[in-house]
Amino acid sequence: MTQTNRAWILARRPAASHPLEACFELTESPVPELSDGEVLVRNHFLSVDPYMRGRMDDVKSYAEPQALGAVMQGGTVGVVVRSRNPRFAEGDAVVGRMGWQEWGVSDGTGMGRVDAHRIPLSAYLGVAGMPGITAWIGLKHLIEPKPGQTVAVSAASGAVGSVVGQLAKAMGCRVVGIAGGAEKCRMVTQEFGFDACIDYKAGGLDAALKAACPQGIDGYFENVGGPTLDAALRRMNAFGRIAVCGLIAGYNGEPIPVNNIRSILVNRLRMQGFIVTEFPKLWPVAQAELVEAVAAGSLRYHETVAQGIAAAPSAFTALLRGGNIGKQLVKLV
Ligand code: NDP
Repeated sequence: MTQTNRAWILARRPAASHPLEACFELTESPVPELSDGEVLVRNHFLSVDPYMRGRMDDVKSYAEPQALGAVMQGGTVGVVVRSRNPRFAEGDAVVGRMGWQEWGVSDGTGMGRVDAHRIPLSAYLGVAGMPGITAWIGLKHLIEPKPGQTVAVSAASGAVGSVVGQLAKAMGCRVVGIAGGAEKCRMVTQEFGFDACIDYKAGGLDAALKAACPQGIDGYFENVGGPTLDAALRRMNAFGRIAVCGLIAGYNGEPIPVNNIRSILVNRLRMQGFIVTEFPKLWPVAQAELVEAVAAGSLRYHETVAQGIAAAPSAFTALLRGGNIGKQLVKLV
């Protein structure tokens, strides 16, 4: 019997005239037959990520925009159910980029086997996958904190931020998170072990950051931008390092200005943006360390899991509004 594949395509670009969720359409088509060299994967989880918002716009960026009418791109984990590729066997657990769909056909490019007995399969989309590796590279290669220094991170309860803080803590730093809401801040300190967490939604971010960082900030991992970045710039120490990972506060509209540029000059700061895919040599090193730490129980993680392919757009828009704690996933199987 022919199986049906349900997939979300980008049907229209974001505009003020319609809500973001109306950009997507759910399609149905038969699961294709395999050609030589191909594998068929049943996707078990798909990832929704903030970067997808940028790809929905047809603007110049570090990556091509998502094509209209094509399946929404994105990371997936799943299991090979048929293989005509000698590199993969039926039953292999794999991580790839099959996008927002239930099934995927691949020639194996960009797809890798993972050990789903050591740590759960879903973790390869979060703590031990792209977001975890982003945290590892931004912290260890751009911020390079020393024991005793203070590291601050925004979106601290999220997939990237929660890993940044735990890695910095393991390096002997004082770690301060910034997150939205009391429950998120409780998670950040009690579950992820940060020294302090500031609820930016409660107001008084500047004063709270000053109180939480009595020695100033030596390393700042930025996921948000706008007023959060301004507050961090105000507290930076001389020769501090800022890794600009994301600017999510401005993804859904006009970019939000930053005012305290003077701090870069007077504190001789090093501020560097980075894109995780541009460090391919570091991926295996980072991933091996993250898998080891998760398996040992020394690196904790949280997942917010939406159920079923139909939930992908709402899970994505909820993520952009801060509805997630830890990695936002969609469970398909
Ligand atoms: P998260 O799991 O952190 O989820 C996004 C979080 O952003 C929300 O939960 C919300 O947390 C916060 N947020 C949303 N809107 C705002 C706002 N207006 N002001 C402040 N916070 C806001 O996502 P990820 O961990 O996947 O990604 C974190 C950042 O890292 C993003 O900016 C993303 O684009 C970037 N990134 C960059 C990569 C790179 O290669 N440079 C790779 C991967 C991610 P809260 O409720 O606390 O506000």
